[in-house]
Amino acid sequence: MRKPIIAANWKMNHGPKDTEDFLSSFTAKLDNLTDQVDVVIAPPFVSIPAAVAALSSNSGVAIAAQNVSDQDSGAYTGEVSTMMLRELYVRYVIIGHSERRTLYGETNAIINAKLKKARIANLKPIFCIGETLEEREGGKLEAILRSQITEGLVGIEEKDMKEIVVAYEPVWAIGTGVVATVEQAQEAHAFVRSVIADLYGKPLAEKTRIQYGGSMKAANAGELLSQPDIDGGLVGGASLEAASFLDLIRAVAAVEAAE
Ligand code: PEP
Repeated sequence: MRKPIIAANWKMNHGPKDTEDFLSSFTAKLDNLTDQVDVVIAPPFVSIPAAVAALSSNSGVAIAAQNVSDQDSGAYTGEVSTMMLRELYVRYVIIGHSERRTLYGETNAIINAKLKKARIANLKPIFCIGETLEEREGGKLEAILRSQITEGLVGIEEKDMKEIVVAYEPVWAIGTGVVATVEQAQEAHAFVRSVIADLYGKPLAEKTRIQYGGSMKAANAGELLSQPDIDGGLVGGASLEAASFLDLIRAVAAVEAAE
């Protein structure tokens, strides 16, 4: 049984003050939802200290960073290291988001280096993969996913793979309001799990949590999470307001309660 994991990717939204306001109203209404759903918030780097201050150690909400350097320290202007994140009590880190791949030129090799660095620091990566519309329509969906997974995970040992969450995010569904159909999403998730099984064996693949990302919201989260291979969500737009994000988490918890 895989516990669902819902992560908020705030991207470049919510400075320290907004973060504090969001989390005080969010945690006030979270009740015991974290018993059924793992909840993760990924604010911008500068808002992480405000998030730490706003979340008590027993809130059940974990903090993620949206990116991390593949270097330890030194002359890397603008970068943030894994150990700096650890110092701020960050538990997860999003690696390989499609915006990092397309806007900042992150390759599978860079993503692989970041995944390794994250695991050395005992951070839990949220490893993002996903195809563009052109790739899907050109019949390349499986080839793209397979190469992103295999190249991204080169040299990652089984013990580290156990701590990695995979996020399948069709690029054409991110921030567009277009959601993959449940059939498209389930089919891609099953394929992702089969590739993980090829690399690490079926038992580990069955334990790996695979999130869906791409215009997920309260209205579609339940149907998506009811699919056998969809174990959570990486949520952009619908995570920016406490009320809509709470509704989404409630929808996921309702699926759990019904199963
Ligand atoms: C994302 O940023 O990973 C994402 C899925 O965004 P949205 O939910 O807005 O599509």
